[in-house]
Amino acid sequence: MPYMDDATFRQLWRRFAALVHEHKGELNDLDAAIGDGDHGSNMDRGLAKVLDAFDADPEGGLRSDAKLVGMTLMSTVGGASGALWGSAMLKFAASLPDEPEVSWAGFVQALADFVAALETRGGAVVGDKTMMDVFIPVTEGLVASSAEDQTALTQALERAREQARQASDATSVLVAKRGRAAYLGERSVGHVDPGSRSSALWFQALLESQAAVSP
Ligand code: ADP
Ligand code: MG
Repeated sequence: MPYMDDATFRQLWRRFAALVHEHKGELNDLDAAIGDGDHGSNMDRGLAKVLDAFDADPEGGLRSDAKLVGMTLMSTVGGASGALWGSAMLKFAASLPDEPEVSWAGFVQALADFVAALETRGGAVVGDKTMMDVFIPVTEGLVASSAEDQTALTQALERAREQARQASDATSVLVAKRGRAAYLGERSVGHVDPGSRSSALWFQALLESQAAVSP
């Protein structure tokens, strides 16, 4: 069944932007503990620009919007996360069929390609205390999920939101191996990774934006 069209895709990014804005201080605080304190501000700035770009291009189109998100994040977020989110979103766009909407299977494939691009670019694996601790397992769960009707789909997205939150919390006990936090080594233990927290917000937005457009 069709899963995502351009309107749903924009809804997802609007919701993500709102959640990041709401949690900006918390994301900055997490980054202040093991990095340089700018993760919330970085993501908030980039996502505000994404919404501006949507407003400036009312026509859109699923694939071109995904490309717009990637290019905007890459040029406005800055820091490690800007390059990661931006380049991986360009991969996501390239993976989408050039159609007005994408099926669930097509969407999870594009998400898996997004994650593969993050892995190539950042080189992080599960356990390195990064956004990958959320994206890798949660995406694997979604790829394996069946979404043959609305109920199954909502359940899969609820599970993903929950799994993402728990995976983010679980980064607290890890020693950082990538990014700025890696300089702290053992001293990074006891703090949640900021990029894992914003990634969990993305899965929350995915659930909530779906709910917003479903009958
Ligand atoms: P910066 O570290 O340049 O200030 P941000 O603060 O915006 O950038 O983002 C930091 C987040 O980026 C980290 O919390 C981590 O989740 C993620 N990150 C950093 N390096 C990598 C990497 N090599 N692979 C995956 N994620 C990474
Ligand atoms: Mg930072």
